[in-house]
Amino acid sequence: MKITDIKATAVTVPLEAPLRHSNGVQWGRFVRTIVEVETDEGIIGLGEMGGGGESATLAFQGLKSYLVGHDPFDLEKLRFAITNPTASLYNNRTQLHAAIEFACLDIIGKKLGVPVYQLLGGKIRDEVEFASYLFFRYPDEKNGRYEVRTPEQLIEHAQDLQQRYGFTTHKLKGGVFPPQYELECYLALADAFPQDRLRYDPNSILSVEQAIHFGHAIEKLNNDYFEDPTWGLNGVRRVREMVRIPTATNTIVINFEQLASNILNPAVDVILLDTTFWGGIRPCVKAAGVCETFQLGIAVHSSGELGIQLATMLHLGAVLPNLAFAADAHYHHLTDDIIQGGKMEYREGKIAVPERPGLGVELDRDKLAQYAELYKELGTYPYDRDPHRPGWYPLLPNTDGFADPTRSY
Ligand SMILES: [Mg+2]
Repeated sequence: MKITDIKATAVTVPLEAPLRHSNGVQWGRFVRTIVEVETDEGIIGLGEMGGGGESATLAFQGLKSYLVGHDPFDLEKLRFAITNPTASLYNNRTQLHAAIEFACLDIIGKKLGVPVYQLLGGKIRDEVEFASYLFFRYPDEKNGRYEVRTPEQLIEHAQDLQQRYGFTTHKLKGGVFPPQYELECYLALADAFPQDRLRYDPNSILSVEQAIHFGHAIEKLNNDYFEDPTWGLNGVRRVREMVRIPTATNTIVINFEQLASNILNPAVDVILLDTTFWGGIRPCVKAAGVCETFQLGIAVHSSGELGIQLATMLHLGAVLPNLAFAADAHYHHLTDDIIQGGKMEYREGKIAVPERPGLGVELDRDKLAQYAELYKELGTYPYDRDPHRPGWYPLLPNTDGFADPTRSY
């Protein structure tokens, strides 16, 4: 089989409300690039990447000369053709490679008539558990609803999500407000859900000492882990020396060099595997194997997703024997999806692993056109800017101002 063409379409799908994080805001919508890899046998493979627009479309078009004529089964050759480690000093294509790897796995699965998990060693579980990914949110611009700023709003939001989706693990994405205020919110959350698991992720924004202080204050709670408490392997190592909670990261161990460093000189206990950041599903499976050998924990990370990317996370979660934590997904914040049948459903906090050949999802062409049109209308937005705080951007650690928790918008 040969690849004959590649198409990339930028889409925008609305979120329930804008999601605040330590660097800025997801502005009430996700911008994603949907990738279609075509073959001479008529099989089309689907991929997805974060961000979009002309630059992403051009980047995929730029790979055409690498891809046309390539056999989608030759995944290792593809890895070196696109992400050769020394050539990558001049062109960072890890995330592009991930989207193409998803599409090639989709093609292989469709050709062989098997789900992608069968290509990865076979599934260990039929469904993957997810955490309620809790964000501080600005109100939705249209109706002024859905704000999450106070501890009361946070708990109400978590209860609502638990009722709708059945989550029993709660992740608080912090780093927005002063640490003492977020500590109050986290403690209130623990108080409201005494039976459930918790995790806190300030997105590396705390100083080492702030992180140690925060860590000491939450040590007795049901914490899965303390995610990216501060920046850098050396910073997290200092926090880990002082706080008795496992540390986790999706920022400082996202390739095999960093994984090796972390094993030789430990800083992070739980590695959050992201099918995009690591360059595909297969690198995540390989990394999980290394973690299994060295008894590091793993979980499935979310860098934002529509249904295609979610399918990659489900197939990954299905095949990892050492997956002992609920996965993260932004998915429940989305109002719609571009796959046939609409959004995938949660049951008791879990989503079923797709069973159809390949990734097991197909594009809804009407939805794709609708949200490509919305992208054209609204354009892209900078992930690292906050529309309500013009000109602001954080330092690491954030010494120039957290957001004001008394201020409503
Ligand atoms: Mg994180």
